[in-house]
Amino acid sequence: MSLATQLNDRIKQYGPITVADYMRTALLHPEFGYYTRKDPLGIQGDFITAPEISQIFGELIGLWLAEQWRILGKPESIIVEPGPGRGTLMADIIRATQHVQGFHDAISIHFIEGSPVLREKQKQALKGHHPRVQWHTDFKKLPAKPLLLAANEFFDALPVRQFMYAADGWCERMVNVDAEGKLHFILVREIPPVDFPAVSDVIFEYGEDGAHITRTISTHIRTHGGAGVIVDYGFDGGSRGDTLQAVKNHKFHDTLHDPGTADLSCHVDFERMKRNAEAQKVAAYGPVTQGAFLNALGAKARAAILCKNAPHKKASVISGLERLLSPDTMGHLFKVLCIVPMKHPKPEGF
Ligand code: SAH
Repeated sequence: MSLATQLNDRIKQYGPITVADYMRTALLHPEFGYYTRKDPLGIQGDFITAPEISQIFGELIGLWLAEQWRILGKPESIIVEPGPGRGTLMADIIRATQHVQGFHDAISIHFIEGSPVLREKQKQALKGHHPRVQWHTDFKKLPAKPLLLAANEFFDALPVRQFMYAADGWCERMVNVDAEGKLHFILVREIPPVDFPAVSDVIFEYGEDGAHITRTISTHIRTHGGAGVIVDYGFDGGSRGDTLQAVKNHKFHDTLHDPGTADLSCHVDFERMKRNAEAQKVAAYGPVTQGAFLNALGAKARAAILCKNAPHKKASVISGLERLLSPDTMGHLFKVLCIVPMKHPKPEGF
């Protein structure tokens, strides 16, 4: 049985499902989900992410977190990474901060990961790097300590619902199945759970899980202290319409074709994320572009050191960095937002 067949049966029996339900099932179905079954990252996989492109990304984020920890007064803290993929970002964070006095002794590492395959990869990547590493499936049981959070390409994987103001009022875009068993989108009368401007025929996306997680992180930072940095591709307010996309083998794929075999993601609305954070009485800065953020943190100087230490790697160091920084590749599309307590000084890079 495939996931397509299962979804067909379910929709035939119970009716159309929301785009969020569709995403959630396609990505994390316990048996056939995309992330449940495979490691999607890298050249052999379907897509590649910043930490997999260049170690500089994780190193600078590591130093940024250690600096926030210093400003917080060097408390015993938890480092939390949701959606850690292969564990590369955390391995780079740990390596880059090994000489920050007291840091490694003060922290424990907490991964939030839904995929058993990727958990295994993360275990391998972190082996011997740090004595205290734990895995969670969600944010519910994090220890009540200051939170240092790094998230890269996690929020784009969270399910969104889609709404549209059509001629006869608000509708939700849902996934239905036709007589031949083919999945397709339909509009169903439904009032959105948040206020969207009633602009005809524009799709608005609402990510309930993303909003909930932003609130959880923010409340934790307000209550116990901490600092979070969130990197993802996305936009700063307004609507981008339908941003649901499927990627397979580094190419775009039909979003409804063969669910569970392609990555599904959406652009992150950073303005909404910022408002959700601020509503919890924390300070949120950004979004700034990934290019501006990494430049401000000294990406070029770091690259120069890497090239000096390993001249044979110069070409790949330079091309990796270029890919992270250039407006034509990831430099502009990817954005960075940070969340800190109200009285915390504005962090570097924002
Ligand atoms: N941060 C990594 C991987 C990005 S891929 C990198 O930059 O390379 C998205 C990651 O989020 C994967 O690890 C995936 O398994 C995880 N993930 C997606 N949805 C999730 C959810 N709802 N709960 C927990 N983890 C999730």
